[in-house]
Amino acid sequence: MAVSVVRLDEPLATLRRAIDLCGGWDGLGPGNRVFIKPNICLPRWMPLYGMVTTTSVLEALVRLLSEQGCRNITIGEGPVDVFGTSIRQGYRRMGIDTLARRYGVRLVDLNRGPFRPVDLEGVKVQVAEAAFESDFLINVPALKTHNQVKVSLGFKNLKGFLSPASRVKFHGTNRLNHLIRLLGEVVEPHLTVIDGTYALESGPDTALGRAHRMDIVLAGREACSCDVVGATLLGIDPSGVGYLREYAEARGLPLSADRIEVRGEGDLGALVRPLEWRVNVPEELSAMGVRGLSVPYPGETLCSRCYAMLGYSLLALARDNRGADFGNSVICCGREARPGADARPGCEAPPGSAAPPGGEARAVILFGDCAVAANRGLEGACRVEGCPPPVTDSLMALWRTLLGRPRMLRGMPARMARLSAAKAGIFMDRLDKWQRYQSKEFAPGHFRAR
Ligand code: SF4
Repeated sequence: MAVSVVRLDEPLATLRRAIDLCGGWDGLGPGNRVFIKPNICLPRWMPLYGMVTTTSVLEALVRLLSEQGCRNITIGEGPVDVFGTSIRQGYRRMGIDTLARRYGVRLVDLNRGPFRPVDLEGVKVQVAEAAFESDFLINVPALKTHNQVKVSLGFKNLKGFLSPASRVKFHGTNRLNHLIRLLGEVVEPHLTVIDGTYALESGPDTALGRAHRMDIVLAGREACSCDVVGATLLGIDPSGVGYLREYAEARGLPLSADRIEVRGEGDLGALVRPLEWRVNVPEELSAMGVRGLSVPYPGETLCSRCYAMLGYSLLALARDNRGADFGNSVICCGREARPGADARPGCEAPPGSAAPPGGEARAVILFGDCAVAANRGLEGACRVEGCPPPVTDSLMALWRTLLGRPRMLRGMPARMARLSAAKAGIFMDRLDKWQRYQSKEFAPGHFRAR
């Protein structure tokens, strides 16, 4: 049950100490097939800090495995697919392709399978064979909060083994926490290494979230204990994280870091950095320079594809229309969001998640098939159909509904050019709030192989 927590200095020495302290190599043999599962959820169009596992930690891990005599190492991830996002682009952007060539590591795209059918209490999903084929599975999530399930650590990172269609299913049943727990019982890593080079507030991405330098690494052989300690470091009570509570209670595991043997840093309390997990969308949009637009909290039913597509569309809208006031308009996404209603009855509402103040919304946009189906009878709303809506449809619908047809016609050519450049990986929209990533706290070298 021991979890090691070590301050991150030089990655190789830090990882060696963290893994040695928790007995992390027990059961590993030189001839083993090793699979490393990082978090590279959205490798394009936004800063990487805190959102994805760092290349420096992955490289240190690969070097340590080489020291252990391992020659058969694979790294694999299945990113959120937004306008053709491919993990190959992510590997290139993060220097993981260089790392792979240097150390003879195989890189795979988990979105391409092959998959194995798995039944999670009646929910039939496809899980990448890679999750079961290796002799030694190492889960390497980033240390981050998550605006639906509070934390995204080891358990949540296992969702990357699901086929893209199965990830959508996780959100369709309103049992997201339960399904994450069940997946954690099917895919059991031999070792978890949580990369806390950075920690992400209001995650899981840096468009709406905010990264902080943390310089910590956690390691352990028991997945739940690692996540409990990770959540504690983020100032989030592990017993309030649905999937952790379910998993721990079912297995009689501790849900408090006080009851886990923590090795390495003596005073865990001194390392805690309380971070907000919710997102205040109006506040974030106002920081991007636009006002008068709210997005009711979508609950657990919003899946990553609509989340990412809407995220990109909002970012583009704000970036191209600085100073615009959308006059109390609402965008609903996911199955639960209704204009004028909080999407989580009975739950504490995130700030700004309820109906827009000031009465009727000027415009209502139903974004994605789920929101369209959930608000079938609503008159006068703009319906952006698709699962998720195609990016051009999304952009044109937002521009036309919120700004009017003339401004849409004027603004679209430049936006489409930026979109094409973003797809080609040669352009990234920049938000003012990302200026913070110019400070020396944030090192681009963490996303390059040495
Ligand atoms: S419509 Fe959007 S939220 Fe609903 S399943 Fe499709 S991509 Fe996910």
